[in-house]
Amino acid sequence: MKITKDNIFYSFCGKNEPVIRVNAPVNLDFETMDCFGNQLRTPEDTMEELDWDRVNPATGPVYVNGAEPGDALKVTINSIKLNEKGTVCCLNDEGTLGKIIEGSHTRVTPVSDGFAHYEAKNGLRIDIPLKPMIGVIGVAPAEGLDINTGTPGKHGGNMDNTMIGEGVTLYFPVAVEGALFGFGDLHAVMGDGEIGVTGLEIPADVNVTIDVVKAKAPEYPVLETDEYLAVIVSKPTIDEACLRATELMQSMIAERTDLDLPDIVMLMSLLGNLQICQIVDPEKTVRFVFPKKYIPSLSF
Ligand code: CA
Ligand code: ZN
Repeated sequence: MKITKDNIFYSFCGKNEPVIRVNAPVNLDFETMDCFGNQLRTPEDTMEELDWDRVNPATGPVYVNGAEPGDALKVTINSIKLNEKGTVCCLNDEGTLGKIIEGSHTRVTPVSDGFAHYEAKNGLRIDIPLKPMIGVIGVAPAEGLDINTGTPGKHGGNMDNTMIGEGVTLYFPVAVEGALFGFGDLHAVMGDGEIGVTGLEIPADVNVTIDVVKAKAPEYPVLETDEYLAVIVSKPTIDEACLRATELMQSMIAERTDLDLPDIVMLMSLLGNLQICQIVDPEKTVRFVFPKKYIPSLSF
């Protein structure tokens, strides 16, 4: 089954009408637009003409039968097929360096053979290895909340986490019946922090498998690979996000082992990595990443 890019939404909300109702586990194809709603696709398309009401479209939402508040929605990203070109921008007052940028600037960048072929204004060409990832992905937040797709939170959303790529499994806290899952805002490549306010923004076709894990809702999205377990926390400041991310990883390890608290803290300090996802969205996102190989019971 394929959910096409005609089925989009701009805020994660329990009131959204689902485009499809599915039984889990289910394998689905999604067609996604880039974060600009595919409006900046040629060098002539400028930010000034951008319709901001069409920014950050997510494809969906999908209603998963049997997913109830308190469950975890398990989403595995099987494959990402990128479009042949992406767009990167910077503009006045956006990102950490926006104060020194005048106007807006875009580079439409071809993508082929595993690389983004970036060309600077002075003619410098750099072939950047692709690292496809999903910027916006999540479920509807709790009843009464309506969170635009540009903002991250407990429900997921605009986390802009470079780890959210092929082969990764995510666990989201289901907060409304059916979960109402969706995603968009693919990046061909992006650096941690996304300091200029965009990655290489690109339309894509993505295949995912969706399942429900009963009564295991995490507080914030959890990411798992064969090698790592990570928690992804968004808060108004990086400091608050870092604090909560370490607290949540500590509880995850405590629940899955009989290690003493001081050992958990010391092992987190030695083996865990606290990393910035993005610092440019309305809330800031970090991840705490812990390797699984030393503690066999450490899986979601
Ligand atoms: Ca984004
Ligand atoms: Zn993006």
